[in-house]
Amino acid sequence: MEIVRLTQDVTVLHGAVNMGLVRCDEGFVAVDTGIDKQAAKQLQRAAADMGLPLVAIVNTHAHADHFGGNAQLLKQARLPVFAPVGEAAVMRQPRFEPEYLWQGAQPLPQLLNKFLQAPPTPVDTEFAPGVELVIGGRVFQTVSLPGHSSNQCGVLADGVLFAADAYFDADVVDKHGVPYMVNYPQILASARAVAGIAASSYVPGHGAPVANPSPHISALCQRHEEAYGVVIERVQSEATLEDVVAEVCSKFGLNPANPGAYVLLRTPVAAYLTAAVEAGRVLPVVRAGRMWFVPAEEELCSD
Ligand SMILES: [Zn+2]
Repeated sequence: MEIVRLTQDVTVLHGAVNMGLVRCDEGFVAVDTGIDKQAAKQLQRAAADMGLPLVAIVNTHAHADHFGGNAQLLKQARLPVFAPVGEAAVMRQPRFEPEYLWQGAQPLPQLLNKFLQAPPTPVDTEFAPGVELVIGGRVFQTVSLPGHSSNQCGVLADGVLFAADAYFDADVVDKHGVPYMVNYPQILASARAVAGIAASSYVPGHGAPVANPSPHISALCQRHEEAYGVVIERVQSEATLEDVVAEVCSKFGLNPANPGAYVLLRTPVAAYLTAAVEAGRVLPVVRAGRMWFVPAEEELCSD
């Protein structure tokens, strides 16, 4: 964990998951709280070292690694919590995360871990994407950045954009192969939107703060576009979701080693398929106990 002072009032705790501390009148506002108790303690220590208490939490989205520290911080003091509308529901009922990853069913026990399910947290203020929050006299401009999750928001404060998981460091993209997302058109639009927001520093959820995020954004968009191409290519000879996941693994040299890693790859593949169906290129057809994805023209011809 490296502590990076980006401006007089904005400090980032840069680690596997970034967390921000933004100074306001009464103390510091945490932007995301990391994955667990340990992360929360690091936030508290960093604030204490700078001589002020934590006074509020703003969460960008409802993934366990971004709000997992809330519960610990709230044990120490009942801080107000701000989160985007829609994301807040999952933060209050975090079992929804492993549930949606397992198609709404009771999750496999292998999906019940701190990476996929955080302790529940109250949310005091649900904000609509794009609204301006004023906390302790400090303006936090929220920015709608959906696609990685349905209602994810970035936060712009003192000229620093906390971009959440709208883009990743290019190394992180390489590590994941196909980074998690839920909506293909939106992930591209949001990543590109980040580049258009004027800021002195850009802080992704995972990766170093930078002055120019464009190379990272290009790397992310390129990877998603390549993966979408692999999906379209594979369904030319009809395929199930699982067939397409296997094809993506083989094309990008990925080898998910457990059910958690597998479902985190299956979701973006499902999102590519939804986009292909919405674009009129592919159709879902249920036949012989399987859901097949076939080229849209083929299905028209066979009618
Ligand atoms: Zn995330």
